[in-house]
Amino acid sequence: MPGCDRSLWLQVHHIVHWEDGGPTDSHNLICICSKHHRLHHDGGLGITGNADAPGGLTFTNRHGLVLDPAGQPSAPRPGDMPRVAPYDGPTGERLHKHLIHYAKTQPPPGHDPDGASGSGGDGASPDRERTSAA
Ligand SMILES: [Zn+2]
Ligand SMILES: [Zn+2]
Repeated sequence: MPGCDRSLWLQVHHIVHWEDGGPTDSHNLICICSKHHRLHHDGGLGITGNADAPGGLTFTNRHGLVLDPAGQPSAPRPGDMPRVAPYDGPTGERLHKHLIHYAKTQPPPGHDPDGASGSGGDGASPDRERTSAA
């Protein structure tokens, strides 16, 4: 386990979990400390790969970033990050309240504020009638 120096009281973990059909073979078994074992089963540590192959295991944090040998998440590769235009910063202009005009809010399309179309004419929406009847 990268970044973990525990070498005593280790627990044997099935990389492909035993309850998911993972075999009890050396390529599927790893010895980890109880803290990291619990972290893995709580979803905070990803462990995948072949334990028999040198360097065959991949450890990831809860965000899916691969951990380096010191246990630190590796920096995302350039292709992993969305391209964002550089921010030019504020212009330094003042905001003048008297130049701001607020548009009147429009009801969402399909909404009938008067209740003129539809049921009854008492103003209650069909949904409300159904709720009170239940
Ligand atoms: Zn386990
Ligand atoms: Zn550990």
